[in-house]
Amino acid sequence: MLLLALAAPVAFADWFSDARAMMGTEVSVHLWSDDPEAGRLALEAVFQEAARIDRLMSTYKDESEISRINREAAQGGVAAGDELFALIQRSLDISVLTHGAFDITFDSVGQHYDFRARQRPDPQTIEIERERIDYRLVKLDKAAGTVRFLREGVRINLGGIAKGYVVERGIEILRRRGVQNAIVTAGGDSRLLGDRRGRPWMVGIRDPRNDGQVAISVPLADEAISTSGDYERYFDEDGVRYHHIIRPSTGEPAGGVQSATVFGPDAVLTDALSTSVFVMGVERGLTLIGRLPDYESIVIDDEGRVYYSDGLMPPAQHTVE
Ligand code: ADP
Ligand code: MG
Repeated sequence: MLLLALAAPVAFADWFSDARAMMGTEVSVHLWSDDPEAGRLALEAVFQEAARIDRLMSTYKDESEISRINREAAQGGVAAGDELFALIQRSLDISVLTHGAFDITFDSVGQHYDFRARQRPDPQTIEIERERIDYRLVKLDKAAGTVRFLREGVRINLGGIAKGYVVERGIEILRRRGVQNAIVTAGGDSRLLGDRRGRPWMVGIRDPRNDGQVAISVPLADEAISTSGDYERYFDEDGVRYHHIIRPSTGEPAGGVQSATVFGPDAVLTDALSTSVFVMGVERGLTLIGRLPDYESIVIDDEGRVYYSDGLMPPAQHTVE
């Protein structure tokens, strides 16, 4: 009996991981499972969910729901599914919260960048398209479930919030499958489920000017963390860095910051807030975070100096005689 039991195939509890290129970045899942088959199925379910959300929200796909809105919403209300409608609503609320630093209509200017091809809009294009950046030009009709643009040429792009949404949904799927320890990451956005089985996760914030190097490590459990950096998509030209985070008020890439990290309970919000803090800069950004209970931030400015939100500051040192 004993021998038989030992000879039977034994499934070991272990960590299971996978990473795939999607949404113009890398999505990765790392989880603990008592059962290898269940672990592998759970990994797969998260990637399927990411692909589904991408089909709904990618402006690179002509047939996506958001592309149809961008084509037709200036002519009249376009029906959006509940999920997309809700995320647009959240985006507009965050625009109000950040005084317009976060604005999904940045895309009228943003669409003219191609970072791989080193293409950027000329000043005249920026001048024209800038007039179309204003979240107040997006009108939602809750009863009808429709989105309408008040002006021709307005475009929306959820690039600053969709990855946080993928991560949040991915963790929810794992939780429902009984997973208790996991990390789901999409680009610069991660959500941690539980801890690393008895120890906190150590999450590294990248050194913005040294590829592959970690500038700061933070111990975290059960939390979301997002970093927005000027090194994700960019090209340098004549000493100027043209990157993917647009300041809505100027229509140009936001200066003054190399990276902004935000952590807190909800990955949708940390994603949008890291983009917002990047745009707002050290002072205004950290003031905003200081007003939000449960959210903290670490900002690295254009000289490489590191700033922490008040909640992360060590208590004042006492001198002992
Ligand atoms: P990453 O894509 O590297 O995770 P972010 O979360 O900061 O970084 O998202 C940057 C993306 O957000 C850009 O690629 C673009 O799609 C979008 N974006 C750029 N500027 C803004 C803005 N002012 N408000 C909202 N979204 C923006
Ligand atoms: Mg973001």
